[in-house]
Formats: sequence, structure tokens, C-alpha cells
Amino acid sequence: MSCVLVTGGSRGIGAAISRVLAARGDRVAVHCRSNMAAARGLLAELPGDGHVVLSADLADDGAVADLVSRAVESLGTIDVLVNNAGVYLDCPIQGSYQDWTANWREVIGVNLLGAAAVTWQVVDHLLHREQGPQGGRIVMVGSRGAYRGEPTAPAYGASKAGLHALTQSLAVALAPRGIVVNAVAPGFVATDMTEHLLSGAVGDDIRAQSPFGRAGEPADIAAAVAWLSSAEAKWTSGAVLDANGASYLR
Ligand code: NAP
Repeated sequence: MSCVLVTGGSRGIGAAISRVLAARGDRVAVHCRSNMAAARGLLAELPGDGHVVLSADLADDGAVADLVSRAVESLGTIDVLVNNAGVYLDCPIQGSYQDWTANWREVIGVNLLGAAAVTWQVVDHLLHREQGPQGGRIVMVGSRGAYRGEPTAPAYGASKAGLHALTQSLAVALAPRGIVVNAVAPGFVATDMTEHLLSGAVGDDIRAQSPFGRAGEPADIAAAVAWLSSAEAKWTSGAVLDANGASYLR
């Protein structure tokens, strides 16, 4: 049994991760930004006990520090961090300068700086805890967009490329302390984030990107995260695992 903090664990991919980890016996701190109804709804469905719901805006450094200390207090410790929360906000470079700079601040602020802040807090806990197993697991939810490009959302692509680079740097820095760090890079996944696209005029084109002829399901990504966050994944560190239905090969 591990104690796990899943950021953005209340909906979409994060909810599937919370479900699969709870089903294998982990205790999960399900984090959300503000949609407590969705988070509490999920909490009621999770198998096992000891799970909690915690909210915090990851763009707020102080709220992040408070989030991690509340997670440690509620669960007793944190063994595994899944940095899943993120925002996708279209903002092509052809728009206004004000929109462009605001979009970069917001998207990088949540997807990269927010994840880096949560990671600092959790690593500080892992390095200084006196009880429980040593070491730990960190899994970032990155994106295929870091490699393939995001023409209408360049800040999003850059935030995920930064997350992949953070994964690789920390895998090296934290290996001597037994902390394993990996990322998963999904392609299109059917969640609230993509619902407007998958149900719209471009839906069939998106499904055709994969030779499987469909978009990913949240459970497809959760399966990869489950293995990377398990005790067995002790030699795979610094990896960015593509989970995109062969829609983009690199
Ligand atoms: P989603 O359904 O939109 O859920 C987003 C989650 O993140 C929610 O729990 C939300 O909390 C939380 N969140 C959003 N902004 C936040 C903030 N400022 N501070 C704290 N939490 C915040 O997203 P998803 O599609 O499952 O995506 C999950 C991750 O996978 C993201 O990092 C995304 O970039 C990545 N990804 C998704 C796809 C895809 O096609 N869906 C593809 C590649 C990568 P509330 O419920 O309170 O709003």
C-alpha cells in the first residue's frame, strides 16, 4: 500500500488514475482546483478507505505548500506523486500581444511552475521523512504535443516539453535517494478537456490520427501511470512513455 497525491485527480485522466491506484490498495489524496462536487463524487466511488479530497490552485505557491502538508497530515505520508493537473488553452500567435503573454503566464504557471512547486514540496517530504519506506515515485503527465507541436496552443506544448525535461533532470538528481521519476505523454484522450473537439467537426480526424481508429480513454493512461508508480518500476527512470495509440512515433 502506498500513499499517493494525484493532482487534478478528480476528473478525466486524474480520476482514472485515482480509481486504478485505489483499486490496487493505495490511499489516495484526490486533488482538484475548485470543483469539489466532482472530487467528492469520485471519492464516494473509490474502493478502499483513507482517501481524501484536497483543493488548491497550483498557480499559487503558498496554496501548493499548504496542499502538500495537508496531504501528508491526512494520509500520514506521501510515497507517490502524480503530477497530472493541467490546463489546455488555445492561443495562436496571430492573436493580440496581451492575450499571448497572459496565456503563456497562465499555462506555464499551472502546467510547469505548478507541477515544479508540488514536486519540490513532495521531494522535501520524501528526503526528510523519518518513518515509512525510503525512496519514492514521481510520475508526470506530459503530452504528445511536446514533440508533435501545438500550433494553436504553443504555450501548452512548451509547458509539456518543460515537464518532460524536468522529469529527466530529476530522475538523475534523485536516483541516489531511491526516487524514481518518469513521465507519460498521452495523445488525444476523451475527457472534459477535449470533449468539444471530439464531439465536433474535427472529431473523426482526431480519431483517425491513431491506427486504432479512436481517441485514448482515461483508463489507457492510468494503466501506464499505475505501472510507473509501482514498486516494480525501479529501473525505468527518466523515461517519457508515449501513450498515444501509435498516433505519433518519434
Ligand atoms: P481535465 O478533465 O480538464 O481535468 C483537469 C484537472 O486538473 C481537474 O481536476 C482540475 O480541477 C485540475 N486543474 C485544472 N487547473 C488547475 C489549477 N490551476 N490548479 C489546480 N488544479 C487544476 O483534464 P484531463 O484531460 O484529464 O488532463 C489531465 C492531464 O493530462 C493534463 O495535464 C493534460 O494536459 C494532460 N493531457 C491531456 C490530454 C487529453 O487529450 N485530454 C492529452 C495529453 C495530455 P477542477 O476539477 O477543480 O477544475
